[in-house]
Amino acid sequence: MLTPAGRGAVATIRLRGSSEQIERAGFAPAANLPLSEQPIRRLWFGFWGETPSEEVVLGRLGKRDWELHCHGGYAAVARILNSLRERGWDTSGWKEFFAQDEPFPVVEHREALALAATWKTTETLLRHTPQRFVEALNELRTELDSTGWHDERSRSWVERWKQMLAWRSFGLHLTIPFRVILAGQPNVGKSSLLNRLAGFERAIVHDRPGTTRDIVRTLCAFEGWPFELSDTAGIRTHAEPLESLGIEKSLAEIAGADLVLFLVDVSRPPAPAEEDCLQNCPRFLRIGHKADLPVHSDRVLGDGTILVSSLNETGLEELIAAMIVLLVPEIPPVDSLIPISIRQVEWLERLQSACEQNDPDSIRRCCEHLLNPDTVGEQHFFP
Ligand code: GDP
Repeated sequence: MLTPAGRGAVATIRLRGSSEQIERAGFAPAANLPLSEQPIRRLWFGFWGETPSEEVVLGRLGKRDWELHCHGGYAAVARILNSLRERGWDTSGWKEFFAQDEPFPVVEHREALALAATWKTTETLLRHTPQRFVEALNELRTELDSTGWHDERSRSWVERWKQMLAWRSFGLHLTIPFRVILAGQPNVGKSSLLNRLAGFERAIVHDRPGTTRDIVRTLCAFEGWPFELSDTAGIRTHAEPLESLGIEKSLAEIAGADLVLFLVDVSRPPAPAEEDCLQNCPRFLRIGHKADLPVHSDRVLGDGTILVSSLNETGLEELIAAMIVLLVPEIPPVDSLIPISIRQVEWLERLQSACEQNDPDSIRRCCEHLLNPDTVGEQHFFP
């Protein structure tokens, strides 16, 4: 089955078999023409199974390759797949199916395209075809088998894989949103800012500290890049037990975030301990929030603080621009290789170290695995 279950009006099933096998499996063309006598690229309207049968369109792609289009609901697809299995056909997932003929990076690229949530990420994936990566791996394998393989060659490959891995964050975030956490004291306006950024009322805004006890997540896109915004429980020390749990979760979230937006209230005195939680986070932006109110003292406005008012909707564009600069600082040139799945990143790291050690067996194994993993099945290469 090539289409996601239950998601579209029409489902597409790819079949591989002779025209007689297709007819025996259950297909009957509306116009009584034997399939075997029809040319490649012909489409037929017809029926599948006993009355009441499914209405289907069958397309011939090759001598033994066919595409069957049926109603997209679960029942019609299950009925057709079951009738095939009953007649002894093997069925497989779409990744396994494509992996029979295509190098695996091409299959992963298809999967990434299906997961890409914005035009920008889709366009970027289409621009960076997986073919170049496949060619590079094949080139390395050929070099490895040639007589001229030596340390220097191995080192030049280290450089190539290093360059590719430099785009890991960019590549992985074509399908996985950047995780941005809003943190800061209760009542500093985290929920309000999340709502402003996301453009709709997603989090509860309340003027009593401690309203956001759990983590609220919102998916959105800025300049075409996917983001997941999370609003955390306010960080403070004397909290009720239920809220403390939320705070613990917040600290764990902060450690795993791509970016933390740390809010301080410009109208209140600075609290020296409040930024302690930033110690573990790789990247953060300091937001001077409630910028519509009089500034309490210059000390609240540290270096690089971005002034934002969720109430008046000021400073939001500047904030979004700063987020993009930090998270997507550079766009890879069209001809660069970029890893797009966690699997690729993991195996490229192994390949790079195998090249560093100039270990031909290990290099070969990594190339093989990147091109053609042992098990394709239901593994997930994307979270
Ligand atoms: P949180 O606890 O950090 O999530 O804070 P909330 O978003 O619930 O906001 C706490 C209070 O601050 C609410 O009364 C909001 O109306 C108010 N508030 C939020 N943003 C602003 C702002 O930009 N300016 C002003 N003056 N008040 C704000």
